[in-house]
Amino acid sequence: MISIQHEKLRDLVAEVFAIAGSSRAEAMRIATYLVGANLAGHDSHGVIRVPVYLRWLKEGQTVRDQSIKIVSDTPVIAVIDGQFGFGQTVAPQAVAIGIEKCKGMGLSAIALRNSAHIGRVGDFAEMAAAEGLVSAHFVNAAGSILVAPFGATERRFSTAPFCVGIPRPGASPLILDFATSLVAEGKALVASRGGKKLPADALIGPDGKKSGDPHLLYGEFEPTGPRNHGLGKGAIRAFGEHKGSGLALMCELIGGALTGNGTTKPNRRFSNGMLSIFIDPARIDASDFFPEEIARYLAFVKSAKPVVAGEEVLVPGEPEERARQERMATGVPLPEDAWEAIIGAAREIGVSEATIEAARKA
Ligand code: NAD
Repeated sequence: MISIQHEKLRDLVAEVFAIAGSSRAEAMRIATYLVGANLAGHDSHGVIRVPVYLRWLKEGQTVRDQSIKIVSDTPVIAVIDGQFGFGQTVAPQAVAIGIEKCKGMGLSAIALRNSAHIGRVGDFAEMAAAEGLVSAHFVNAAGSILVAPFGATERRFSTAPFCVGIPRPGASPLILDFATSLVAEGKALVASRGGKKLPADALIGPDGKKSGDPHLLYGEFEPTGPRNHGLGKGAIRAFGEHKGSGLALMCELIGGALTGNGTTKPNRRFSNGMLSIFIDPARIDASDFFPEEIARYLAFVKSAKPVVAGEEVLVPGEPEERARQERMATGVPLPEDAWEAIIGAAREIGVSEATIEAARKA
């Protein structure tokens, strides 16, 4: 495991995307969101994605510096086509529209379709929370067929994330943000590159047996070589048995079908669809009941006796906030294989050895 100072890592990744043809602003945005996911502790959605983003760009699956297209617009709803632009470019624009409408009307929704990978969905709940808004996000990742429905061995869903954000005055927001699969695909990617192992029941084989072996997703692979989740014969299991599987289905239908993005099926272009709902709590009750009740209730929840004496009961968003504080101080930990894959991609596109060396010397 090596550790890279977060700003140096961000600058290296920005350099990669600038050489790949993105404007400086877009390159820096992609890098900031990816490193932001690492800082939040979600390495699965961090810089490990650099090689695949470059491949998608090369194949024309992702379009650089793309503009969004407003498909329809009312005072409370906007339907937005990301036109396969980088998620780090089109999703913040879509969410900004939702926030603006919500500030005007107290309630709004946006339907984003055809976005390239939007990364960590929690970023968008944090963006709304920073403006004092509650938000909920149903997302699908069409084209990324990975997850077996409850009771099945064959893949039908994407990892279809679900996210809710609640602002707290004077404190970091509560951010519940997870894939509806038992693990996000990126966690299998991290495990396949020598990082944290998968839980032993995260995957299911064609024989119906549970397993934690990433080969079930990617088939045979070289340590630093590419991963293709189309080659494995197994599937990721949905979390929470029938309940998580049901939530995954709803994310596919609301984030995929309702947005016009389309649901997950084999052999289709990757695109994230996201249906986001925004609520301004001040329009429901202008008194301080909501923030005060949150504070009271969180204190009650956190005071529950922990299973392991001395450990703390955490609430959603706390692990990310702690990881952020720690990693900003100590650097972003990366398994050697992941670092080699990133700098391999950087070298291939023409990033100089001096720039790579400068990032490494943290
Ligand atoms: P995860 O299993 O790590 O769960 C994270 C959530 O659980 C967070 O809300 C966190 O605050 C909370 N949490 C974690 N530990 C906790 C504890 N001890 N007590 C209380 N709460 C706790 O997340 P995941 O399923 O691996 O997803 C990782 C990321 O992947 C998410 O950011 C998600 O948006 C992203 N994702 C994106 C896509 C896409 O297509 N763009 C697809 C899937 C997942």
